[in-house]
Amino acid sequence: MRVVVLGCGFGGVEVASELRKRSKELDITMIDRRTRLEYQAAHPEILSGKVTAEEISGDLNRFASKIKAEFINDAVVNIDFEAKEVETREGLKIHYDFLVIAIGAEQTFFGIPGAEELSHTVNTLKGAIEAKKALERLDYSRKISIAVIGAGLTGVEVAGELVDYLRGRASAKIYLIELMPRILPAFPNENVATYVTKFLSDRGVEIMTGTTVQEVSEQEITFKNGSKLHYDIIIWTAGIKPNNLLEKLKLPKKKGWLKVDPYLRVEGMTNVFAVGDTVYFEDEGVRSCQNVEEAERQGRVAAENIIRMIKGEKLKRYRPKGTIQKPRAFISLGDDKAVMYFGGIIFKPFAYRAKKYVERRYMKRFG
Ligand SMILES: Cc1cc2nc3c(=O)[nH]c(=O)nc-3n(C[C@H](O)[C@H](O)[C@H](O)COP(=O)(O)OP(=O)(O)OC[C@H]3O[C@@H](n4cnc5c(N)ncnc54)[C@H](O)[C@@H]3O)c2cc1C
Repeated sequence: MRVVVLGCGFGGVEVASELRKRSKELDITMIDRRTRLEYQAAHPEILSGKVTAEEISGDLNRFASKIKAEFINDAVVNIDFEAKEVETREGLKIHYDFLVIAIGAEQTFFGIPGAEELSHTVNTLKGAIEAKKALERLDYSRKISIAVIGAGLTGVEVAGELVDYLRGRASAKIYLIELMPRILPAFPNENVATYVTKFLSDRGVEIMTGTTVQEVSEQEITFKNGSKLHYDIIIWTAGIKPNNLLEKLKLPKKKGWLKVDPYLRVEGMTNVFAVGDTVYFEDEGVRSCQNVEEAERQGRVAAENIIRMIKGEKLKRYRPKGTIQKPRAFISLGDDKAVMYFGGIIFKPFAYRAKKYVERRYMKRFG
């Protein structure tokens, strides 16, 4: 019996790990277009130099050997659900009995002219390293403008790390630009936005809310209200969209994301599960967050349900803890500070240390 885990980020790694804990006999094949898991939550700290690429990424081949799974480094380009086969760019056809789709999300630039071509990103480790190199190339003897576009969790964290990187370089100004009327719009309680706004403003970040980017050209951003901002570097931190592969697959979707049943099977399918960012999960009006915690929790439930199906047992329902209505997150702010947002309440003391502890503990599994 072969389980193929497609995508080895937080969700996929958890599926494979949990399957092996529960069964010594199963054949587990892990497939990813990358060779390393990327701990994206720490990417902003690449900019300030607090972490290295090696510290926040893990060798998937090595991880797979540890759990006696097979790892294939290849991109999946199609899935034949009739033949139960995954097709890769290198021409492999890999048979599965159960498939778990865990291919995450992609960055979106919302079709804004010039945005993709002229911006840096921290969504991938490669992108974060390139953004850091671009920062290092700037001539700080003149006035420098750095624009961070999108003030969700990642944008706020990037702004905080830029402040740390630019300490002592008074000529550099950071602009944190957000379309919505306040920063951190995904967090329903305003108290966190108010706290973070003050924290970053006190450290010199200029926060521009209610500001829509219309076009990006060489060295200039044009906003919808007609005003313009000169920039030296843009770091784009606004928005995610479904993985391109999903467009090809004839599966039930909502706004392009995969729809799953309460047991995390793709709707209408018995042997295909999906977990993590790629999934749109809503049950009894409660919608799951797309974050690390839920990707991992979904991974464990999907793995358990595969084992239960093999044994002919009743399946387990997935119940999200972090929801759109009540999100939970650590938000780093730079200066070794963070806030933990938990169901509307914010905790400050030890939040940064707790975030780093979670990161180090996670990365140990790749050691
Ligand atoms: C910069 C940044 C900061 C973040 N900070 C936080 C945070 O502080 N806290 C938090 O909870 N969440 C954070 N997130 C979100 C979090 O990283 C995601 O929710 C999480 O990674 C989802 O896990 P996943 O397994 O669904 O997807 P991913 O971890 O993205 O893994 C998907 C995997 O699928 C592979 N893949 C995709 N397509 C193919 C294909 N066709 N063939 C083969 N392989 C493929 C990819 O290479 C990747 O390894 C952050 C995200 C970003 C980008």
